[in-house]
Amino acid sequence: MGDEYRVYNFSAGPSVLPEPVLRKCAAEMLNYEGTGESVMEMSHRSPEYQKIIDDAEANLRKLMNIPDDYYVLFLQGGGTLQFSMVPINLMTGSHKADYIVAGQWGKKAWEEARKFGDARCVASSEESVYTYIPKVTKEDIRDDVDYVYICYNNTVFGTHYNEIPDFGDHLLVADMSSCILSEEIDVTKFGLIYAGAQKNVAPAGVTIVIVRKDLVGHAPEGTPIYLDYKTHAEKGSMYNTPPCYAIYVAGEVFKYLLENGGVKAMHEKDVRKAQKLYDYLDSSKLFKPTVAKEDRSLMNITFVTGDAELDKKFIAGAKERGMINLKGHRNAGGMRASVYNAFPEEGVDALIAYMKEFEAENAK
Ligand SMILES: *Cc1c(COP(=O)(O)O)cnc(C)c1O
Repeated sequence: MGDEYRVYNFSAGPSVLPEPVLRKCAAEMLNYEGTGESVMEMSHRSPEYQKIIDDAEANLRKLMNIPDDYYVLFLQGGGTLQFSMVPINLMTGSHKADYIVAGQWGKKAWEEARKFGDARCVASSEESVYTYIPKVTKEDIRDDVDYVYICYNNTVFGTHYNEIPDFGDHLLVADMSSCILSEEIDVTKFGLIYAGAQKNVAPAGVTIVIVRKDLVGHAPEGTPIYLDYKTHAEKGSMYNTPPCYAIYVAGEVFKYLLENGGVKAMHEKDVRKAQKLYDYLDSSKLFKPTVAKEDRSLMNITFVTGDAELDKKFIAGAKERGMINLKGHRNAGGMRASVYNAFPEEGVDALIAYMKEFEAENAK
């Protein structure tokens, strides 16, 4: 098989990237824009690299319509480090925060926050293995919390907030690791949004943090310098060596999105892809979707046959057909098709065709 051979990769992350971006990065690998060096080899203090990171920020601002009173930071430590950085930097008034736990990432974030203050779990859907988003209203939130925390798209279980929850004047913090840039979001409704890049943006290694400027600078004395947003905000995400190459690829993805209709066009395609798959799942006699209709994710689509052996057989057959990483997360079981922005629509059609074939052979 040559270099041109590409599988349909349903991985939840790290995950598929736009092919034109991969080709451009490959073409620029040895000689970036006439510099005679790879971006991997480039000093992060060079004017060439400064332009790469500045353009990445400017293009993300354009794509998401991020106002000037927000910082855009490119950090390390993955989504996971934000589980701690958020409470360290934001749980600094009443030292209280309310967490809505709709999946394992939200639960981990809540558990981490408890180390830093009075983090309360307002509601959880754990009892149903997170098949829905718990309904919480502003009356359920304590009056004096520093923020309310949600995970906007639950990568493992396939649930998603299909509208921004209204908690009145409370500051809202959202983990958008697996849905950023898949839908138009009013950033001003949030105090802070973060996203590990390796789901819907770029390779692993960079985490995007979008934070309202007035929320930065309140970390308590003694906070490790690297865990204070202020450190990174003041230095344009270059307090130390940033994840240079991952930021460069993210920047190329942003350009690619802008050239292809932006978030609106991506969203239309994402809706079309997900709708096809959910329509088939809702009509299938063998496969069943696992998530309540109103909370379904466009990015991570989870389903089961109800028979673990049959699930295994299905996943193995898919692999033989060049469709990989359909196995559900170890905590969820069954199958999960992650169909991020860069996942081609033909791949969804191929999956559905195989599912129909499998159903005809295996439905009782
Ligand atoms: C993957 C994921 C994380 C964890 O990200 P890491 O970069 O591996 O630390 C956190 N939240 C969500 C929603 C995720 O999908």
